Amino acid sequence: MKVLLVEDEPTLARQLQRALQQVGYAVDAVADGRRAWEQGGVEPYDAIVLDLGLPRLDGLTVLQRWRDEGVRTPVLILTARDAWHEKVAGIDAGADDYLAKPFHLEELLARLRALIRRSHGVVQPVLRCGALALDTRTQRLTVAGQPVELTAQELRVLSYLMHRAGEVVGRAELTEHIYGADAEPDSNTVEVFIARLRRKLPAGAIETLRGLGYRLQPAGSGDAP
Ligand code: CA
Repeated sequence: MKVLLVEDEPTLARQLQRALQQVGYAVDAVADGRRAWEQGGVEPYDAIVLDLGLPRLDGLTVLQRWRDEGVRTPVLILTARDAWHEKVAGIDAGADDYLAKPFHLEELLARLRALIRRSHGVVQPVLRCGALALDTRTQRLTVAGQPVELTAQELRVLSYLMHRAGEVVGRAELTEHIYGADAEPDSNTVEVFIARLRRKLPAGAIETLRGLGYRLQPAGSGDAP
């Protein structure tokens, strides 16, 4: 899952970026509205955290432009404390949720998880696919109830596939959602992570559709492929 973080206050931006990365997101951070508008319009983010008070272009205008241009990415806005009119204006402009500053990091992370789940039509915090269960709150995977250790990269790949369980996900799409915009991943790296994941998951859980991509099987079959 990839998140765009738009915050011009350097200390808060650093804290948020670190926290988001620690729980497994690929994060692109920008500090002004114009760059946010440009970047949010071209990169396929799973969610955007948008401060409203920004230099060069204010957050509300950025949000309105995205929505006018058809950008449907879930957006969580950060508003000034007690500025209820900002919340109203933000929601009217197309924000999916808001948080008033100062906020607890845990609340931001919980709201972000919920936004991403809902954008994929999932309402439960634990994603399930056959024998697999991924708790989006703790980033822990169990297979048939047994915990399975994953590296951060394996987790990003599996988390994206689990949000899209049963659907075909192309390799390029998968790559876009697990790396930040300035990363230059080798085109084979996704295949490497998929291969490592397969060793940890029931046989046949990740199906390869030649030329199309990968599909996590909702049946989570234990059958040999
Ligand atoms: Ca600000």
